[in-house]
Amino acid sequence: MKMSCHNAKNQMLPFLSGELSLAEVPKIQRHLDECPACAQYAVQIEAAQERLQNALGSAVTAPPTLDARVMATIRNLPPRRASFYKSQPVHQALKTKIEYSIRVTTRNLAK
Ligand SMILES: [Zn+2]
Repeated sequence: MKMSCHNAKNQMLPFLSGELSLAEVPKIQRHLDECPACAQYAVQIEAAQERLQNALGSAVTAPPTLDARVMATIRNLPPRRASFYKSQPVHQALKTKIEYSIRVTTRNLAK
């Protein structure tokens, strides 16, 4: 199936930053070969990225999706325990009890 200009433009940023899935890459490449408008668009985006990179004075560019992925990973991490509690089983038990009470209270408040 031929890729539409709309799809091609939507996938341009991930494509240019090497984030696009390997299955999609040939499709967008074929579209750019056949569609001068989208090819022009790709050139403009690349030029803009280059200008941005120069303005930031850095050779490193993070893909646009990196920030969201890092934040999602951080949010999914288990809660960090202070080393004090790790070495203090009694305090850990107390902490667990308090956390449980907070959860129950929060759940009751939500009712
Ligand atoms: Zn196009």
